[in-house]
Amino acid sequence: MTTSHYVLTPPETPSLPVQGSAQRFPVNRIFCVGRNYHAHAIEMGRPVDKDKAKPFYFTKASSTLVESGATVPYPCATQNYHYEMELVVAIGARGFRVKEADAAALIYGYGAGLDMTRRDLQLVARETGRPWDLGKDFEKSAVCSEIVPKGMLGVLKSGAIELEVNGQTRQRGDLNQLIWAIPELLADLSQFYHLEPGDLIYTGTPEGVGAVQSGDKITGHVEHVGKVALTIGSAE
Ligand code: MN
Repeated sequence: MTTSHYVLTPPETPSLPVQGSAQRFPVNRIFCVGRNYHAHAIEMGRPVDKDKAKPFYFTKASSTLVESGATVPYPCATQNYHYEMELVVAIGARGFRVKEADAAALIYGYGAGLDMTRRDLQLVARETGRPWDLGKDFEKSAVCSEIVPKGMLGVLKSGAIELEVNGQTRQRGDLNQLIWAIPELLADLSQFYHLEPGDLIYTGTPEGVGAVQSGDKITGHVEHVGKVALTIGSAE
């Protein structure tokens, strides 16, 4: 067939490399968890009491995905562009109303991710009760490493999570500080969505978030998982 089924060329499926494989991980939806480390919740002025609170989520379009190692322009419409270093859970099986005890079966693997944020726009949205999209769901804002298959890692419960800007440590935490651990997140999120293979879940950031400028080099690391890197280019 020489003519396309579509009137426009459809976008390519966003995807990530998979460690040890020539095949790639196709990315479906990107869910992000807000305030999932106590010290970060406090630095944002919104401490979390787990007895009274539930996790909450926002999403990024899969078209915002950027592979680790990229240079991205300093984004438009912000004066306060922040990094957030996060463990990313890659979903490999369908799950709806999943029990915590069954959550491991949904996990394909893990990535080291950056939830890049236009903090000024996010905070305006937060203070005015508006959606966070302008602050969170913008082009090239979801950065991720290759996906490491779950293999012997199982359900990650601990491990250092760290971020440096130009070689200086800015964030240092441990996955054992997650307010809602991975099985709790999958059980909760699957009350609201039918989780599908290809979904990514950014699990939240430890304390120490901050701004970057053109020319800065971000490197992050999640123990057992790997590294993520991003260079901030000139403003567009
Ligand atoms: Mn985040």
